[in-house]
Amino acid sequence: MKLNICLIPGDGIGPEVMVQAVAVLEKTAQVFGFDLATTTALLGGAAIDATGGPLPQATIDACKVSDAVLLGAVGGPKWDNLEKSIRPERGLLGIRKALGLFANLRPATLFEELQHACLLRADIAAQGIDVLIVRELTGGAYFGEPKGEEVRGGERVAFNNMIYAEHEIERIARVGFEAAQRRGKRLCSVDKANVLDVSQLWREVVIRVSRDYPDVELSHMYVDNAAMQLVRAPSQFDVIVTENLFGDILSDEASVITGSIGMLPSASLGASGPGLYEPIHGSAPDIAGKDLANPLATILSVAMMLRHSLNMPEAAQAIENAVKGVLKAGYRTGDIMQDGATRVGCKEMGRLVAERIAK
Ligand code: NAD
Repeated sequence: MKLNICLIPGDGIGPEVMVQAVAVLEKTAQVFGFDLATTTALLGGAAIDATGGPLPQATIDACKVSDAVLLGAVGGPKWDNLEKSIRPERGLLGIRKALGLFANLRPATLFEELQHACLLRADIAAQGIDVLIVRELTGGAYFGEPKGEEVRGGERVAFNNMIYAEHEIERIARVGFEAAQRRGKRLCSVDKANVLDVSQLWREVVIRVSRDYPDVELSHMYVDNAAMQLVRAPSQFDVIVTENLFGDILSDEASVITGSIGMLPSASLGASGPGLYEPIHGSAPDIAGKDLANPLATILSVAMMLRHSLNMPEAAQAIENAVKGVLKAGYRTGDIMQDGATRVGCKEMGRLVAERIAK
């Protein structure tokens, strides 16, 4: 079997963490006996410098013919003053759109060895955090029509529209149920069905879809309660599925409480075609080029890629085990440093993970 992966290193620490993630992927291919073909494409600031725009057509083409896309990070002060339409983030939004990515999967995991970094009380952290947030990415209030601003009764009013069609709810619900099947088999659908019509439809459709997944236990929670439960008792959650705006807020909340953005991967999936995998952090211009970046979020994004796009759960697990092994052995990059640990740079962290990949 040959996997064709499109690599988009991007800007800032993106290229540094990418090199380490690719080394880990290559070692995994060796150990698990699959072939790898990679192409490298430009996005964001690197693309602006080379071509004048943040998303060259060649990048879209390279992504579309690949089995999966691995992205570093884009953006940085160098491009901050450009006109909005050609800024690096436009490249990011553009590639998500071009690939039809409607589901965003963000695990928030608290590694046992990093409990000190958790922002919650020690007794809550000790119960563990291992939640996967599945967020709808292309609908809801961010894209709903009609939207805009007009004058009513002599004053300006502005409005957006949280609107979902049944098929949009159904397809994201299926992603949620399937993710739960691969994990703890519990799915919590988050909505505001006591107030919003759109949430009532959301809940009805999720319940209808649940009949196809009898092995998954479905529950429902209002979004205000979910925001509280994430800090009060996050260990109760396995997979959460929710709409775009609620998911935007809850996934950031869940990540920050783990205390280590350098550790968290993400995946964006479409109905067919390649998924896009990337760390949740940005290009960290403050530490770029200094061998200080934590490559583990990007390495764990490779694990997600193997699990969700390439159907190789054992290889994914091997990467996750290697990361745990390195943490257990006491190695830390600066962002997750603690007393008594051994401080390492980006390159050494990547090497330590790669050498631990085993069947
Ligand atoms: P950031 O995530 O880049 O950095 C926030 C802080 O976390 C910084 O102090 C940084 O040094 C640290 N940090 C981030 N990742 C780290 C890692 N892997 N290892 C160690 N430390 C790490 O967010 P920001 O500073 O708000 O944004 C910087 C640039 O990144 C901006 O141009 C922004 O637009 C862009 N950005 C891109 C993405 C993306 O590509 N998906 C996401 C967020 C921000």
